[in-house]
Amino acid sequence: MELKAAISIVNELMDKFDLNKSGWQFKLNRNKRQIGLTRWKKTPSGVEKSISLSVYFIEHNEEWVIRDVILHEIAHALCGLEAGHSKVWKDKCIEIGARPNPSIDYAVMPSSHISVCKKCNKIVDTHFKAPKTKRGCFNCKSQANTKKVNGVFNVGDEYNE
Ligand SMILES: [Zn+2]
Ligand SMILES: [Zn+2]
Repeated sequence: MELKAAISIVNELMDKFDLNKSGWQFKLNRNKRQIGLTRWKKTPSGVEKSISLSVYFIEHNEEWVIRDVILHEIAHALCGLEAGHSKVWKDKCIEIGARPNPSIDYAVMPSSHISVCKKCNKIVDTHFKAPKTKRGCFNCKSQANTKKVNGVFNVGDEYNE
């Protein structure tokens, strides 16, 4: 989804649940592993409260997924740090229209590197950062090369340049 459109959904939803009024901020980050984060950060001037989403996550997912993740984080903000993914949090998710799933496994995140078999061209592994060791192919046992990429890739698919 386009970044600008996603940010306007964030603002709309944060307003709807009065988070803007109660001192919550929205931040974008470039985290490649983590989709979203709700944070209570202690600072000398008090607790800084923020909901963050990864730019990579927004760029590679559809609107319904992004909406759902924002609501997931908003449920954290409304329930407080201690609630975690407890029943209190799950009930809040249902109340505000989010899936009460602790893990957001329906969202995709792009890889920064992939390991591709030299011989059969299969994607052997996907990575969030350059791997330190070369991988072996599960299919033909040859060695894999590391390639720098930016996109969504699946292990087992064939890689075509
Ligand atoms: Zn969560
Ligand atoms: Zn192979």
